[in-house]
Amino acid sequence: MEGAGRRHHRGRTRPLRLFVLLLLGGVASVGVALFAALANSRETATLHWHPTDADDFLWWNESMPVGRDLDWTLVDPRRRRVHLGLESITLEARAISRETGQPDVATAERIRAGWPRPCLEGVTWFLMRATSPPSSPEIVDEGLSPIDLGNGARLIPTRLIMGGLIVDSIVMATVFAGFGRIPSATRRIRGVFRRRAGRCPTCGYPGLEVRCSECGFRLDEPRGSC
Ligand SMILES: [Zn+2]
Repeated sequence: MEGAGRRHHRGRTRPLRLFVLLLLGGVASVGVALFAALANSRETATLHWHPTDADDFLWWNESMPVGRDLDWTLVDPRRRRVHLGLESITLEARAISRETGQPDVATAERIRAGWPRPCLEGVTWFLMRATSPPSSPEIVDEGLSPIDLGNGARLIPTRLIMGGLIVDSIVMATVFAGFGRIPSATRRIRGVFRRRAGRCPTCGYPGLEVRCSECGFRLDEPRGSC
């Protein structure tokens, strides 16, 4: 009786249940991303080199907050450091200073966190102009919060990447939905084993009969009505 009632209830609230699962999935995704950014050190990540491409150049010119007036050329390679749930992409560029003829040098480190897709992002920009006095670079952090929990300072990305958040939320919601099915799946499997052992599938009372004398479960009733 209880199972039938619950099934009916579940059917009626399916959109709400889906919404809550996705909401929980979204919160969990951000939590996982923050945890990955806090727990992993970028210094110990696996380093990959890639040649820079047109997308990198486009991103550079659209995103850069300092030295926008300069004619930048990206320097190969792009360095990508990867840790589970955390990646950092470093781009470097040079531009010849019109005033001195010396190169202005800039780097951008994009820090992205999240699993399976990055859902949080932040960038730290570093610009060393040929005209600026030594050791006085311009540093701009966008969407990053420095946090130190005693294991070294970490730059935590705080800007949401919507595409990544949607993918991560769906994955997390699927995981949660799977966890939610574990109790009923366990009951069903236990029932099969009890039935094979000649016991009531519901309460395990020995002596399998058409109607269990202990809990009243009827073998001839449809499944799930225990
Ligand atoms: Zn029983």
